[in-house]
Amino acid sequence: SENTIICSGCGVPVQTSEPSQMGYAPPAALDRDVIVCQRCFRLKHYNEIPDVPLQADDFHRMLKTIGQTDALLVMLVDLFDVEGSWLLERNALRTNPLLLVGNKRDLLPQSVNERKLKTWLKKDALQRGWTPADVLLMNAYKGEDVTEVAARMDELRQGKDVYIIGSTNVGKSTFINQIIKRFEGDDEQLITTSTFPGTTLAFIDLPLDDGRKLFDTPGVINPKQMLARLPQREMASLQPKKEIKPIVHQLQSEQTLFFGGLARMDFIKGEDNHFVCYFPPAFKPHRTKLSAADALYEKHAGEDLLSPPEKQSLTEIPPFKRQSFHIQQEKTDIVIPGLGWVTVGNAGAFIDVYVPEHVEVIIREAII
Ligand code: GDP
Repeated sequence: SENTIICSGCGVPVQTSEPSQMGYAPPAALDRDVIVCQRCFRLKHYNEIPDVPLQADDFHRMLKTIGQTDALLVMLVDLFDVEGSWLLERNALRTNPLLLVGNKRDLLPQSVNERKLKTWLKKDALQRGWTPADVLLMNAYKGEDVTEVAARMDELRQGKDVYIIGSTNVGKSTFINQIIKRFEGDDEQLITTSTFPGTTLAFIDLPLDDGRKLFDTPGVINPKQMLARLPQREMASLQPKKEIKPIVHQLQSEQTLFFGGLARMDFIKGEDNHFVCYFPPAFKPHRTKLSAADALYEKHAGEDLLSPPEKQSLTEIPPFKRQSFHIQQEKTDIVIPGLGWVTVGNAGAFIDVYVPEHVEVIIREAII
């Protein structure tokens, strides 16, 4: 509009309609003498940085700029959503050294063999064309292993700057806030913001002891992930808060599992098989006959066993689209990025998965 208000903290245009987007300020903030966006407000008053997703082209420009520096990258992935966590573009960052951190360790079963998990992550990274110098696991939420990650970061950076990168929701802000906590009581001026070249968003940096800096960077929402397709009110049920308890189903062909009303898996053809389901508690699998599945969904989507989502959200979610798989190897995961995964026990199964259009279902070697 003609009288755009600019945040006096970071310089982005202030808006009052979209809390999850850049430049948001609650309407009451406009009455203050000095107007800052909510992000800058929280940074200033609570030393807290919420992550604000960038638009794809700004994000791309940011990565390109980072790729032209000689800095260490610390990339976070969400262990509960590894597929949705990977940055879609890697070429811009080809030459930077990389420390890969699997965050949200607490969501996977405690009993998981961590050495194997790290090996799996490293292999997955290599297949995607990334070459991590090291792989670590962390629970940023509880602050577990944050000190170890920081120490390894300090070794690997060899006197260079550091950029913390990752998709939205992998835990970057939580990690940075843990690091800030460890500085608490020091100089108030510790955290500064700077405008990043090529983007409209300012982001924060922390000084490292040799005069170098650690930069927090904004994320981007992976468009192939479930979160990107759901209205705001449905987000909470997709974010597990504690260790996921797998649920096992022994199925015959022509049986179906529903995961709330957000996904459906049909076991079309093959010998009896077992399916280990890793989903947030609200998405406890519901088993039915394949022949009854269409009618059940038609009638009960958004209710009881087939919710979340709430009924009122159904019109805001793209319709189901089918993706078909023939499982070639034992212990294969069928992954619905942002929702969960099913580990199929034996090879040979023909499986159809239905999820909202644009969510990309993938298969992988079992993570656990
Ligand atoms: P960002 O978008 O990458 O900055 O991610 P946030 O730091 O905002 O975290 C996204 C969500 O994941 C929040 O609900 C966090 O509380 C949660 N979260 C972050 N780290 C962890 C973790 O180690 N374990 C669990 N269970 N949740 C986490």
